Amino acid sequence: MLTRAQTRLIDGNKIAGEIKQEVAEQVGKLSARGFQPGLAVILVGENPASQVYVRNKTRTCERLGIHSEQINLSADVSTRELLRAIGKLNQSDHIDGILVQLPLPDHIDAEQILRAVNPAKDVDGFHPVNVGKLCTGKPAFVPCTPAGILEMLKRERVPMVGERAVVIGRSNIVGKPLALLLLREHCTVTICHSRTHDLSNLSSQADILVAAVGRAGLVTGDFIKPGATVIDVGMNRAETLSQVRHLFGADPIRLETFRKKGSCLVGDVHPTQAMGIAGALTPVPGGVGPLTIGQLMRNTVLACEWRRVHSKRSSL
Ligand code: NAD
Repeated sequence: MLTRAQTRLIDGNKIAGEIKQEVAEQVGKLSARGFQPGLAVILVGENPASQVYVRNKTRTCERLGIHSEQINLSADVSTRELLRAIGKLNQSDHIDGILVQLPLPDHIDAEQILRAVNPAKDVDGFHPVNVGKLCTGKPAFVPCTPAGILEMLKRERVPMVGERAVVIGRSNIVGKPLALLLLREHCTVTICHSRTHDLSNLSSQADILVAAVGRAGLVTGDFIKPGATVIDVGMNRAETLSQVRHLFGADPIRLETFRKKGSCLVGDVHPTQAMGIAGALTPVPGGVGPLTIGQLMRNTVLACEWRRVHSKRSSL
């Protein structure tokens, strides 16, 4: 077994910072040519977590020089009104990316809403056209979390060709698109989920193990092949002292966080058990999380380039 010191923690904040710096430079160049990228975010209702996510997105836009618009609609908005708002943004030339913050209230058909976004402005990559393009290996908008993870693996120079990747979780937002991206990079991919038999055995064969489940500490030491790269997407809360101690041992920082806040953020990977077995590990917080917004900004710039700059060039 490796010693604890041999597990390298992947610094998501650092990589996200580099990505944002690159995006700001691209935005500067595009804006100088008269193409300032623009992102519109639609927020329905007053879900506090969604409000924080949307605020972070619009603030990041401001910092990087991307034009941003926030459309706030009340929780009782009708599907028709929401469709009208999306229709206006689809028509607007200075809006390159449209993002409808999820979850939507129950009375709204989220599928219908996501299908209404112009695929050329679908920076979340949820429209069936973009999903189909991803499946068939065509250039497409890819959902931000999996795209950010792939970028992280590339920047960390993690070998992928021919390597065995196991993705635990098959959601449309994370697990499935990430499995397709890893396949595109020539990994041999296995997707596991809630009905998978012998999960720990399958997982322990992975050179790249991704946990995108939403179960605190599900991935224990026996799931991990020594030296594997482990990507922890999960964002869960440990809410009892015994759970915090089980997951973090006597870590004084986590114990202090728990004492102050009454809970502690934890991923799907058992943090203390993974240390010393994994070759590299994304911490929670500070691993995958910061990459998602960075990727959204990249997608917005890409949307501007594809829709405005390239279309102009091809019509010359
Ligand atoms: P989801 O609930 O849509 O999907 C969870 C998946 O896990 C399902 O496919 C299910 O089959 C599988 N699963 C459930 N229990 C399992 C078990 N016991 N064993 C094996 N598989 C099991 O969740 P999601 O939207 O894909 O998100 C997964 C996690 O990632 C959540 O904790 C979420 O908060 C987090 N997340 C983080 C980011 C980020 O930016 N860091 C972004 C998106 C999601």
